[in-house]
Amino acid sequence: MNRNETIFVESYFDGTRIHRDGPYSIVVKNGIIAIAGHAESTPDDANGICRARFAMPSMVESHCHLFLDGDELDPAKRSAYLKGTRESMLETAFANVERYRGIGIRVIRDAGDIHGINHEVRDRVANSGMTVLSAGIGIRRRKRYGAFMAREIEHPSEIGPLVSECTRSADAIKIVLTGIIDFENGVVKDPPQFSVEEVREIVAVAHGSGLKTFAHCSGIEGLEIAVRGGVDSIEHGFFMTPSILDEMAEHRIAWCPTCIPVHFQWEKPEFAGWNQPTVSRLREILDNHEECLRYADRIGIEILAGSDGGSYGVQHGGGLLRELELLRKAGLSQDAVLKAVTSAPKRHFCLSGGKIVPGESADITLLDSSPCAEKNQSAPHFRTTSGSFSVSI
Ligand SMILES: [Zn+2]
Repeated sequence: MNRNETIFVESYFDGTRIHRDGPYSIVVKNGIIAIAGHAESTPDDANGICRARFAMPSMVESHCHLFLDGDELDPAKRSAYLKGTRESMLETAFANVERYRGIGIRVIRDAGDIHGINHEVRDRVANSGMTVLSAGIGIRRRKRYGAFMAREIEHPSEIGPLVSECTRSADAIKIVLTGIIDFENGVVKDPPQFSVEEVREIVAVAHGSGLKTFAHCSGIEGLEIAVRGGVDSIEHGFFMTPSILDEMAEHRIAWCPTCIPVHFQWEKPEFAGWNQPTVSRLREILDNHEECLRYADRIGIEILAGSDGGSYGVQHGGGLLRELELLRKAGLSQDAVLKAVTSAPKRHFCLSGGKIVPGESADITLLDSSPCAEKNQSAPHFRTTSGSFSVSI
């Protein structure tokens, strides 16, 4: 986008709500939005004037792992890839950044990788119009889940020095607080990796350096620890409950629900070979997640849209668009879904450009049709200058 430009659109999302009865004009001067409102008329195309059907603040992927290949569905090839060269992982990570760029996603929060490829990618794309917020290498308990993204802490006395070391290069501190879900039994594997006191210490060291924390966490036991330990956002959060959400609202803890990896397991059980009882269990987990999302939205919890791109069955870029569709299907309003992918994460990550309002810096994505489907309308096309996808929320 040029630093000085007038954009005419039929409708736009301002970061809080969708304006539907255009035409509207958005005037940008020196990179700052000067005017956003009803247009008197739409002049013929001229220099410095741009038309689009829909405008919104550029999107944010709040949770992914850039170095992982989300396209690969063969488990043997996935594990071979993890044993491959750093160069091949870097190549994958850069290609993944370009996918995000191609569909109007300008900010990516990487949720950890053991090789620190996320830091290198962050530094190398910094002046190319993309912002990568990198957790670097996360933190986990020795011999527990998270080997691909986190280093080990063996003794509590290591917490302070290790977190302190991470704060020197990370943009946020990633805590692997719980294991993964045992889908067959519908529970989280293993007890939480850290106690409330340990999480508090991690948070205190991170906050002392001005960094936020985000916790990989599912299951009631772990969720209670995360909330009482004072993390800034809960990632995944399966088996959520209304009372934990009440506590999250009280302490202003955000939620990045990453529906899509579990949804993939439910939608395509043939890949993991799940039987019917497991598919039913997956559905129960998703139903609870959706119910809690509606409640979270009602009580004003900040919801951050993140796909967990790179994890099994989740493509980078396209996965986030699918996540938006799932948030909508769960019952969030169109305004709430767009907020979760624009203004909410930008606010949470302390970035500008989350709103299309006068005075805000202009960080706008233009679409050739509105992503907000009307009744009886098939999924509209979502096209930017360098990519084309369909998404319907
Ligand atoms: Zn993740």
